[in-house]
Amino acid sequence: MKKAVVIGSGIAGLSAAIRLANKGYDVSVYESNSEVGGKLSQLALGKYRFDCGPSLFTMPELFEELFDECKKNFSDYLKYKKLDTITNYFYEDGTRFKSYSSNEKFAQELHRLALIEEKTVIEYLNKSRKSYKLTKHVFLENSLHKMKTFLNLKTLISLIQLYKLPLFGSLNSFNKKKIENPKIVQYFNRFATYNGSNPYKAPSLLSLIPHLEHNIGAFYPTGGMFQIAMSLKKLANDLGVKFEFNCKVTEIIIEGNRAIGINVNSEFIATDAVFSNMDIYQTYKKLLPNLIMPNNVKYEEKSSSGIVFFWGIKKEFKELGLHNIFFASNYEEEFHKIFNEYSISEDPTIYINITSKYSIEDAPLNCENWFVMINAPHNDGTQDWDLMVEKARKNIVHKLNRILKVNIEDFIEVESVLDPRKIEINTSSFGGSLYGSASNSKWAAFLRHKNFSNKVRNLYFCGGSVHPGGGIPLAMLSGKIAVDCLVD
Ligand code: FAD
Repeated sequence: MKKAVVIGSGIAGLSAAIRLANKGYDVSVYESNSEVGGKLSQLALGKYRFDCGPSLFTMPELFEELFDECKKNFSDYLKYKKLDTITNYFYEDGTRFKSYSSNEKFAQELHRLALIEEKTVIEYLNKSRKSYKLTKHVFLENSLHKMKTFLNLKTLISLIQLYKLPLFGSLNSFNKKKIENPKIVQYFNRFATYNGSNPYKAPSLLSLIPHLEHNIGAFYPTGGMFQIAMSLKKLANDLGVKFEFNCKVTEIIIEGNRAIGINVNSEFIATDAVFSNMDIYQTYKKLLPNLIMPNNVKYEEKSSSGIVFFWGIKKEFKELGLHNIFFASNYEEEFHKIFNEYSISEDPTIYINITSKYSIEDAPLNCENWFVMINAPHNDGTQDWDLMVEKARKNIVHKLNRILKVNIEDFIEVESVLDPRKIEINTSSFGGSLYGSASNSKWAAFLRHKNFSNKVRNLYFCGGSVHPGGGIPLAMLSGKIAVDCLVD
């Protein structure tokens, strides 16, 4: 039986480990934390439970597919439901609307508020679907660095039709062309943040992202997001994957041009294949000291990070739902600060996730668990994060007080904070960036590191910092693509 070692048990590491075990490999996962999940973790604060990382679950079909491949039923491992109401949106001028899983209902809501014609919304979302369908086979589901991806009919059909895609200009310029109302432009611009990018620089092709939420749907897993990681861990256990927790891998050992093992706790572990789910920059810097870091990794633009306040709130807010957005008045300035000045706007867009709306056990009776997040730059080592966190908290409190007409501090009974420094410490992500590299150029997809090494045999990479990118769905695909690249 061939042996494979997986470094890290983030979503991509789990996706790869399960697929390797399903192929008959003897798989060991080495994880520096005490539990699986990586960025997808949870936190208990007094009587409150919080998901610490991702809060929006899209594309559950990628999980269904994995469990099917392993001849298991996903529903035996995780229950989830499609959301009817996805997100509540708040603007400073008092405009409020909800996004719904029904495109018609959403379009009607925006039309009722005299924001946009129904037809324009439906057309935008149909275009988004088309762009996704044309792109997914080449750019998302397969390696961009293997000939076999390009030598098949599906790819050729996609390539021939590439001219139909929105290929020029930024997402913002595309949205402005399609939509007159600046509030709805801001709404559709926000989807660039789903992979940590700047809508004023990111390519118009990112207009395919709303397809995932609007045309496929947004979902909530019973028990919260952390249960997604738990379901993968259980499947991995059922397939015989071994987990070694609190084990930080310190080096990938190379002999000649082959990866032959890893060093953990000063012990050498021999293996036939090494899969690194560690951030690609950190993998080169810390685990592969004798390899030259490729320039695309060294100089890539990092995705945004975030500052998250976990607040136990001793009050129920009927006007809030599971996902809530309080938009910045000047969206362009917010992204300029993050990506050009590595700082944070005085008026940031605030995202509040409240899982106790669905999982009542996450907060005491008549209370709510607020995950309050703003976008932030990655940690470039020069920022004064203590000061930035303090200022951000003040600005968030003022904005929420203004819009919700409360004194929110009266209701905060427990609190904890996550910032890019801690995200980096907890997961080894470079500078605490959430999604690896940003997609702020149309070449970003081509510049992401491949899922294998062309210098070292038996060495593979998966995770948000390599192809096809970050976020739960792409991390899942990345684990799949890395295993597809495996040369047995
Ligand atoms: P990671 O989650 O980064 O895990 C890597 C693992 O490797 C970690 O467990 C780490 O401990 C381990 N490791 C690293 N180095 C070593 C070593 N040397 N030895 C052993 N183990 C090691 N995505 C969404 O889809 N929707 C969202 O709503 C969303 N919101 C987010 C909000 C926040 C606050 C954060 C932090 C992330 C969010 N994301 C979201 C992004 C998403 O969480 C990530 O893209 C995805 O989880 C990354 O998975 P990954 O497999 O790349 O690895």
